[in-house]
Amino acid sequence: MTPPLLRITALTKRFGGFTALDQVDLAVAPGERLGLIGPNGSGKSTLVNCIAGTLRSDAGAIEFKGRDIGREPAFRRVHLGVARTFQLPRPFTSMTVIDNLRIPLLYGGTSVTLDSGRATAEAMFILEQVGLAARADAMSGGLTQVDMRKLELARAIAAKPALLICDEAMAGLSGSEVDDILALLFGMKERGVAVVMIEHVMRAVMKFSERIAVLVAGRKIADGDPKSIVDTSEVVAAYLGE
Ligand code: ADP
Ligand code: MG
Repeated sequence: MTPPLLRITALTKRFGGFTALDQVDLAVAPGERLGLIGPNGSGKSTLVNCIAGTLRSDAGAIEFKGRDIGREPAFRRVHLGVARTFQLPRPFTSMTVIDNLRIPLLYGGTSVTLDSGRATAEAMFILEQVGLAARADAMSGGLTQVDMRKLELARAIAAKPALLICDEAMAGLSGSEVDDILALLFGMKERGVAVVMIEHVMRAVMKFSERIAVLVAGRKIADGDPKSIVDTSEVVAAYLGE
């Protein structure tokens, strides 16, 4: 068996007396497509924040490429190959769309440092993939919510990750826009990128995921192939029926 790209063991995160993550175990294989679902407030974004280093966990371990990254600062985790999108996009609003991508391409990549011309070309290539090429020179602050989400995804892709975590990247998108993003994320596999999709759009999660994990109130209650997850009555009650 391939060793996992990401291995989380007994991860616990508390906010004061409130336990947001309670001994969560989770592994992601290289190139795997994992869906992570659960009701609002179940700890999905907190888990992403702990993996990315935005938050520090209270107990448990986070290993990436076989090394313990639980105490590494966020920027080093990006360099190692962890990229995430924020549920609420936060681009540099006073920069153009393309400059928002040029920055990670010039400074944020895992190993290759691009010169300015190459960074511009690569940024345009990514913008074309997410359907934002026409907005390249627009100021990011003036984008619609939908375009903001596409830019958020483009920024994560520009970091050339080995693991891409999409935190509700499809919220508010139309059916055809969801399909565009899905196609883009399916394409990541050919580049060997593992993708964790956190999503309420169940059609997308079911279509995308090779495996689905379910969080409820900070605990992982199920983890398996998508069909068996949907058949789990607890999952249906906790999530799908909400
Ligand atoms: P999800 O992404 O599954 O909707 P979150 O991870 O955002 O859930 O939140 C899990 C729980 O932790 C919620 O009850 C939320 O209110 C709480 N929480 C999240 N972030 C913080 C924080 N920075 N401070 C205090 N409580 C938080
Ligand atoms: Mg969330």
